[in-house]
Amino acid sequence: MNIKKRISLSPNNALYLHLPFCRLMCSYCAYPKVLLHDKFVRPYLEALKQELVSLNIKPSTIKSIYLGGGTPNALSDDDLKTLLMMLKPYYHYGVEYTIEMNPELVTTSQLELLQRFHINRLSIGVQTFNEKYLQEIKRHHNYRLVKTVIKTARDHHFNNISLDLMYGFKNQSEAELLEDLAKLISLKVEHVSLYPLMIEPGTVFGINKYPEMDETTFYRYYHLVRKTLKQAGFHHYEVVNFAKDSRFYSRHNLTYWTLQPYYGVGLGAASYVKEKRSNNTHNLTKYLKGDFKEYETLETKKEAMENYVIFGLRLRKGISIKAFEAFFSVSFNDICGTIAEKLIEQKLLYRRGQYLRVPVKQLLLLDYIGREFILDD
Ligand code: SF4
Repeated sequence: MNIKKRISLSPNNALYLHLPFCRLMCSYCAYPKVLLHDKFVRPYLEALKQELVSLNIKPSTIKSIYLGGGTPNALSDDDLKTLLMMLKPYYHYGVEYTIEMNPELVTTSQLELLQRFHINRLSIGVQTFNEKYLQEIKRHHNYRLVKTVIKTARDHHFNNISLDLMYGFKNQSEAELLEDLAKLISLKVEHVSLYPLMIEPGTVFGINKYPEMDETTFYRYYHLVRKTLKQAGFHHYEVVNFAKDSRFYSRHNLTYWTLQPYYGVGLGAASYVKEKRSNNTHNLTKYLKGDFKEYETLETKKEAMENYVIFGLRLRKGISIKAFEAFFSVSFNDICGTIAEKLIEQKLLYRRGQYLRVPVKQLLLLDYIGREFILDD
């Protein structure tokens, strides 16, 4: 079965739109972004529309829409409405529809607008509640504000809220991390993503040589986060993602981890459609001129099989051998048997029924384990 046929069997398409505007620049951030400047917003929305229309997406195949950034809720209500109108044809009942938000920019009128256009999942970037670290990363909210935002969102009937948190700040103690986690848990949201702080080149932290967590602390904190969230009733379903139950797993992100097709629209957005992986330009001037694509490559069957395993092992339930075989019409054993056996012997993988999983204790070795699945030509 070729990849095109395989994809046609699973029209679980995701649609991602990148809104690159931010009102501030966080010290750790390496995402494609620009400072919000009114003169760019309208032309950007025009270009976004042009790109979206050019893709000829069949709306009924869309299962999730995700507005990411940047800071999508940095847009004025008028601009946000223009964007939501543009996306209206792609929404139908059952679509998971997410917007990323910075808490300090949430307003009642914005929530009303989002509710009116069927947005049903809010992903709020908190990162930390600790005032010292908030100052370091240059974010302008606090616990009280986030609590008020969530209460207001609940009043507007948002019942699927996700919070992002980070750990690994300079000299962050275990007690400080536990305090952040306790505050997070007290907010009773449905989903949380817990990221280790990564120091990326070109960011303020990168330039200032902000110290990165050492490996021992990383391992200790990662497992402390896991344990604390599990005790609070969260399911750990992906390396850094936790949900109250499977109804709240991020359907959009599951698309990426299970090799389903996704369309990425906007500055720097990535797509995976009909055997092609492509990335848009990170250059705003080029994007505004309609010069959207930076590169495009055809994925071979070998690469698709590697990616299936590498991304799939991020999920706690692991990869289904049966699904792999149905997906690619090959025997898993013929293709990956030797590699899998070696990793099982090294206790870096284990089998549970027809699933192959990474043991909890080895989750931080995922990169190494994934690289082992790079297949011979
Ligand atoms: S983390 Fe988010 S809000 Fe901060 S600069 Fe990056 S994209 Fe903007």
